[in-house]
Amino acid sequence: MAQDYYELLGVTRQATPEELKKAYRKLARRLHPDVNDAPDAAERFKEVSQAYEVLSDPQKRAVYDRGGDPFGGRGMGGGFGQGFSFDDIMDAFFGQGASSRGPRSRVQRGSDALLRVAITLADAAFGVTRELKVDTAVVCDVCAGSGAREGSEPVTCGTCHGHGEVQSVQRSLLGDIRTSRPCPTCHGFGTVVPDPCQECGGDGRVRARRSITVNIPAGVDDGNRIQLAGEGEVGPGGGPAGDLYVEVRVQRHEFFTRKSDQLACQVTVPMTAAALGTRIEIPTLESERADLADTAPSTVPIDVPPGTQSGETIVVRGQGVTRLRGSGRGDLVVQVVVETPSGLDERQRELLLELARLRDEERPETVVSHAHKGGVFGRIRDAFK
Ligand SMILES: [Zn+2]
Ligand SMILES: [Zn+2]
Repeated sequence: MAQDYYELLGVTRQATPEELKKAYRKLARRLHPDVNDAPDAAERFKEVSQAYEVLSDPQKRAVYDRGGDPFGGRGMGGGFGQGFSFDDIMDAFFGQGASSRGPRSRVQRGSDALLRVAITLADAAFGVTRELKVDTAVVCDVCAGSGAREGSEPVTCGTCHGHGEVQSVQRSLLGDIRTSRPCPTCHGFGTVVPDPCQECGGDGRVRARRSITVNIPAGVDDGNRIQLAGEGEVGPGGGPAGDLYVEVRVQRHEFFTRKSDQLACQVTVPMTAAALGTRIEIPTLESERADLADTAPSTVPIDVPPGTQSGETIVVRGQGVTRLRGSGRGDLVVQVVVETPSGLDERQRELLLELARLRDEERPETVVSHAHKGGVFGRIRDAFK
């Protein structure tokens, strides 16, 4: 043997499977002929791959350590041995998970968590801070995430010798087919926890309820999600926590309808007021917030000009919802509905008849046209346009 395999990979003779894999990946990434065009790169790549092929296989490694020929006389000059798995090269370039080979870590990233919170339209418009109760997995503080009982630790799995997988060979006409599957004893971890932590049952985490403060920004809309990095579920083995998403549900308002940063509402005014013009007051969203009620007006005045028709809209700039991106607030769109007087007494009837006579409307000409676009039911939607 030309060169010591351990030396080639730059590891000690006591190197664990993980250390071997790490060393090989590092070298393979540097020496692969596709990325390294030094004249000897291909040859060296072949050498370290061969070294790893032997040392990553417990049986071959044992033979090699005893000074024997790990290839069983098959020779070493022909490049990769037949048992060499291409997965290792894939792993070297695409990281663990490109193939199922090798033990998987007990420590894994936790999953994301989702929490829904209902807020009022006023809170959505101006932003609000909420204390939320979150139920997630947290690191077990008895074993600090290791999953092992105090004083004990995970040991190398006897079934797979730390590889996390077991191999089987099937003979076929085309040659030996090697397949591997996760080790049934250690579930692919390469280690077993002989004495699991009593608190978490070996998972390294427990469920717990905690309070967190969430700042819900002004302008948030129904269905928006706020991402809180690292506030989700802690992973198995005390792995890094996933993210927490807080999904905002905006409650229906008594009279405001919202679309993006605009608000709309409807006001009903008597026919006489619509004809003569009037000033009305509409309650502001601020008046619903105790913290804003002192500094902001409780109503906004709206001038309904003389001759306003039913269905007409009046736009009040800057009285809508705070823009989530950008600055300022959207508009308030007020749709006027004109109420026709009914239940007239004798005097009122006389006055209206007098008015009709003066306006030559006793037998009015009628104008026939298309129904309101979008239909009667779409009027509020149209108010936004
Ligand atoms: Zn524990
Ligand atoms: Zn195992």
